[in-house]
Amino acid sequence: MIKKALFPGSFDPLTNGHIDTIERSAKLADYLFIAVATNTSKKNLFDADEKIELIQLATRHLENVSVIEHTNGLTVDLAKKVGASTLIRGLRNAEDFEYEMNIAAMNKTQNPEIETIILMASQQHRFLSSSLIKEVAFFGGDVSNLVPTDVNIAIKKKYSAFEYEDEKS
Ligand code: ADP
Repeated sequence: MIKKALFPGSFDPLTNGHIDTIERSAKLADYLFIAVATNTSKKNLFDADEKIELIQLATRHLENVSVIEHTNGLTVDLAKKVGASTLIRGLRNAEDFEYEMNIAAMNKTQNPEIETIILMASQQHRFLSSSLIKEVAFFGGDVSNLVPTDVNIAIKKKYSAFEYEDEKS
């Protein structure tokens, strides 16, 4: 029924929870765009190109998925531009519920034609967030079972570069 869907997010970094949502949405829609937000208020660990490349690597097994950049503008406008009638978001807990409900309602006011579909996070990924991953990795924790392999490698490189910068200063 869903021809094209768009999954917008910060993906800083992509986690196994995101991947789970992507794989499930790619079964619901004929085609799925992953839109990587680059101008959020959040402080990013990875820049747009790095995030796009990491998501491309982690989704290369999915033929009906492509990654696009979401720079300035409304998500519903981007959806319209690429011909997507559905937005996909994930829901982990009550906090997400409040947030996602408001975003979905606001998006409706901007374009009533575009529906939001919320997928419940899988049980094993409910605790997983990009910010927690960054925090644990920053303090040297092992996140290899929580993010795709290339993301794990990229995080390690980032934080070892930071340590090197610290030593220099
Ligand atoms: P944003 O800044 O737009 O919330 P995120 O990358 O943090 O971007 O999240 C993108 C979407 O993925 C959100 O709808 C979020 O609820 C969902 N999400 C985040 N982590 C998980 C997870 N572990 N399992 C399922 N969905 C998730």
